[in-house]
Amino acid sequence: MSSWTNFLQSSHEYEKGVEDYLDKSFSTRAIGDQITCPCKVSDHRFWHCKETVFNHLIAKGIEPGTEEWHCYEKGMSSTSNTERDVEDMHYDIERLIYDVRRDVAERLYMCLETAEVMRWHDEERKKDELLRHPDDGGAWKEFDQKYPDFANET
Ligand SMILES: [Zn+2]
Repeated sequence: MSSWTNFLQSSHEYEKGVEDYLDKSFSTRAIGDQITCPCKVSDHRFWHCKETVFNHLIAKGIEPGTEEWHCYEKGMSSTSNTERDVEDMHYDIERLIYDVRRDVAERLYMCLETAEVMRWHDEERKKDELLRHPDDGGAWKEFDQKYPDFANET
């Protein structure tokens, strides 16, 4: 196992080690284009792309113990995957709740709107009924005038 982590962060050996480490890590444990960042600040809690991890390792240094990448990180990455799944699940649930709420709100709104339309129809129908009688009366008058014989006969 190389001891590149013991070199100074500014040294060529360290940089070479970082590149080597990234090649190995990205070919074995990357999800998408990201791995858990092993720098001293991220400490495998955050997922970053190759360029960011490289910059972190050069600028902030590597978390001690990371050079045993093979066994150490396998365990870490599975924990992180679970954490990530839980995060995804939370997000999905939140979205689901949001969708359901929106759906319920929309239905409620539609109900209100339907109720409003029904009420409107009802009122219009009543108004219509009120208007219809004189109208009908008028129509009958007109009919009587047009067909006086018919009117007389009845
Ligand atoms: Zn980092």
